[in-house]
Amino acid sequence: MTAALTAPGSSAVVLELHNGEMPLTVNDLCVTNARIVTPQGVVRGSVSVLGGKVVHIGPAQPARQEVDAGGKLLLPGLVDLHVHFNEPGRTDWEGWAHGSAAAAAGGVTTVVEMPLNAVPATTTARGLALKLAAAQAHSRVDFGLWGGLIRDNRADLSDLIAGGVTGFKAFMYETGDPTFPAASDGVLFTGMQALAAAGLPLLVHAENSDLIHTLMGDLQAAGRSDTPAWLDAHPPVSEVEAVARVLRLARAADCRLHIVHVSLPEAARLIVEAREGGQQVTYEVCAHHLILTDQDFLRLGNVAKCAPPLRSQADVDGLWELLLTGQIDTLASDHSPCPSELKEGNIWQSWGGINGGQLTLPLMLTEAQRRGLSVEDAAQLVARHACQNPARIAGLSSRKGAIQVGLDADLVLVDPQAVWTLQESALKSRHPWSPFIGRELVGKVERAWLRGRALYADGAVLDNVRGEWLRPVS
Ligand SMILES: [Zn+2]
Repeated sequence: MTAALTAPGSSAVVLELHNGEMPLTVNDLCVTNARIVTPQGVVRGSVSVLGGKVVHIGPAQPARQEVDAGGKLLLPGLVDLHVHFNEPGRTDWEGWAHGSAAAAAGGVTTVVEMPLNAVPATTTARGLALKLAAAQAHSRVDFGLWGGLIRDNRADLSDLIAGGVTGFKAFMYETGDPTFPAASDGVLFTGMQALAAAGLPLLVHAENSDLIHTLMGDLQAAGRSDTPAWLDAHPPVSEVEAVARVLRLARAADCRLHIVHVSLPEAARLIVEAREGGQQVTYEVCAHHLILTDQDFLRLGNVAKCAPPLRSQADVDGLWELLLTGQIDTLASDHSPCPSELKEGNIWQSWGGINGGQLTLPLMLTEAQRRGLSVEDAAQLVARHACQNPARIAGLSSRKGAIQVGLDADLVLVDPQAVWTLQESALKSRHPWSPFIGRELVGKVERAWLRGRALYADGAVLDNVRGEWLRPVS
């Protein structure tokens, strides 16, 4: 028998197949015997990979390399839209090599990196070029880059857009970083108009700066520098008010908005209401806001200092209600490392940020099961909120975010039954501090592949694949 296959629309490409046997394509990789977490549900079978893409999900196909998953979970690589890798300029804080290694070890195969905490900040074309060069030289995972919208760089936005940023990040809260001053309402509004015209999202850190700094001033004048003072300086109204305000500004500017690290159900509900009213708005919740409480902060101190701060048990429970009803868009780490000594000093002096880029997957699997989800439902929750939704929001859905034929073969093999205690030695960060040290976790990343190539195995990040820059598809 002879079969002639003609490519549609072309008479030039004709393949003739003889002898009644279809030729077998030998794929690059086949991960067999897995519980595969797909957008359609968890299916048992094999994932075949050729040329860096998933080409088949189902029965095993011949491949040069076969990996028996032993019935464990196979998830899509996580897409973390909120990491700070501090390079260029502060490579000694983390750097792309360490930060992306931590990501890889945590099953994160794509990051979109924040425009601040590197020097220079990514607020000019030059800043973007330097950031891109550092990432291309050292990233082990695929990456996009957020640009910064700050007080005085509106003239730079068009260069940054042309340069290929994924979108922009702005602060309503003045952090004190002179390279990344907060955007006033006027800068936010006019910046939003420019981004709306370019079709890019604005990510916003929504806290009321004046309110917080006034309270901080009063607390400091009263001699307060204890741990609870940080909570007193960031009351719920400081976040809720800023979220309400930025929603109004973005609606008037018709700009796509993504609010980062929402820590309060009350703020989240404002966003959900705006979305139900037709506004293009999404939001992120970080793993630490879903797991740790203000009581943990009072116990742990500086190592758990972040902004917005850790909130009450009732708030954490409220966020879980929203997550379990599909009303939270993305889970992220807000990985914000620094040298350990910068976590010392009093509460005002200590660096604010959580080093968690490696931990989103095991933390969320553990906590979701503790709250009663089955392991497969927990895995699907992670796949939806830490893979699929962030890929869509960053404009990466044509390549990332799901195990699906035609998408990049970014795969993470997880042993859902592994029970382990987090030690510093497991963290790939340059400075392996974490508020989660000593915590018992259920579920462990065993292996990860980036575009079908082995990225992580047996506790080690492998050196045979480099991260690629993911420019937004226009
Ligand atoms: Zn951040």
